[in-house]
Amino acid sequence: MDLQLTEDQVAIRDGVAELCARFPEEYWQRVDAKHEYPEEFVDALSRAGWLSILIPEEYGGGGLGMTEAALVLETINRSGGTGIPAHAQMYTMGTILRHGSQEQKERFLPEIAGGSLRLQAFGVTEPDAGTDTTRIRTSAVRDGDHYVVNGGKIFTSRFQHSDLMLLLVRTTKYEDVQKKTDGISALLVDLREAGDQIKVRPIETMPNHETNQLFFDDLVVPVGNLIGEEGKGFRYILSGMNAERILVASENLGDGFWFVEKASAYATQREVFGRPIGKNQGIQFPIAQAYAQLEAAGLMRWKAAAMFDAGQQAGMEANAAKLLASQATWAAANAAMDTFGGYGMAVEYGIERKFREARLPIVAPVSNNLVLAYIGQNVLGMPKSY
Ligand SMILES: Cc1cc2nc3c(=O)[nH]c(=O)nc-3n(C[C@H](O)[C@H](O)[C@H](O)COP(=O)(O)OP(=O)(O)OC[C@H]3O[C@@H](n4cnc5c(N)ncnc54)[C@H](O)[C@@H]3O)c2cc1C
Repeated sequence: MDLQLTEDQVAIRDGVAELCARFPEEYWQRVDAKHEYPEEFVDALSRAGWLSILIPEEYGGGGLGMTEAALVLETINRSGGTGIPAHAQMYTMGTILRHGSQEQKERFLPEIAGGSLRLQAFGVTEPDAGTDTTRIRTSAVRDGDHYVVNGGKIFTSRFQHSDLMLLLVRTTKYEDVQKKTDGISALLVDLREAGDQIKVRPIETMPNHETNQLFFDDLVVPVGNLIGEEGKGFRYILSGMNAERILVASENLGDGFWFVEKASAYATQREVFGRPIGKNQGIQFPIAQAYAQLEAAGLMRWKAAAMFDAGQQAGMEANAAKLLASQATWAAANAAMDTFGGYGMAVEYGIERKFREARLPIVAPVSNNLVLAYIGQNVLGMPKSY
């Protein structure tokens, strides 16, 4: 078992860190204050090819694995930036790659890899279904060579910054299927053609999410944009979720290490009662504890990534990595807040910005309760709560 980064992986980490250095704390504070999308940063990442490293070389991508993708996102967040505004561009295309037709791969993947086509929007969650995705009600009814979609989604992030949206719909009603996961299909919606068939209500949330409520009113989607087989979409989405969990865990770990680095530096330099506050175990130990938790969560994430790259079932590892990373980062965020005292709340120190960011992964893209339910029920065989 080799736990060292290879030379190529070190070069990836250093290359990403170099790019991130061009976007310092002031940049993120400005974007945050104005509730802007970090357009220049996402452009720079795309142009450098970092967002397409999971796309095979034959389609113009980097042809690398989950381990390298995880390294990219961890490095972005560890530098003080955030991968959230762009991370979906990395993994949402996996549904096309794994389940799309050859024609769809050739039509979409090269442009996604080149960054001229953004696939950043992923419409799954609905107001009345919540975590229970099988209860979605957005319907797609086939009419000749196209589907007519009606219904709505909530919390669809990056909609305004995407050309395409992967949309989960019901092609057969919940009441008419034998297995509740059947009858759900995955459509690729070209947002440039949708016009007022999609109405948008932005939802004000934490920074860098740009999330929205969407309403579909006879939205026309060509049958050629159905991914895989009709009615099998739930399985396709599930197969992409391990990738999402590993990548979100990696961003989260980047944040956690950022908190630890900031907190330990501040604890060493800030003097109160005539000595550095870091001498006090009430300050030092929570930082050290969080660091140990982050390192442990990081190992679970590397295991999940290695299994994913080897084509093995990584459901337990990907979920555990997401759970442990979000908990470790939350511990690091709180240790940093305590270390900075009142200055933790002052925007100019950056801690409060990252603190808000660190809370999200406990809830989304999947809540830790549901991760525990997965482990308890699917791995350990205990009774289901749903
Ligand atoms: C900023 C942001 C961005 C998002 N972006 C996207 C996006 O791009 N696309 C998308 O489709 N969705 C997106 N989401 C939605 C996100 O995936 C959901 O919010 C999340 O899955 C939880 O669903 P819910 O909010 O409806 O919670 P609910 O399903 O209402 O659950 C509420 C609480 O009850 C708990 N709970 C429910 N059932 C159980 C159970 N059986 N056992 C134990 N606990 C349970 C949950 O864990 C949760 O804590 C985003 C959300 C946010 C906040």
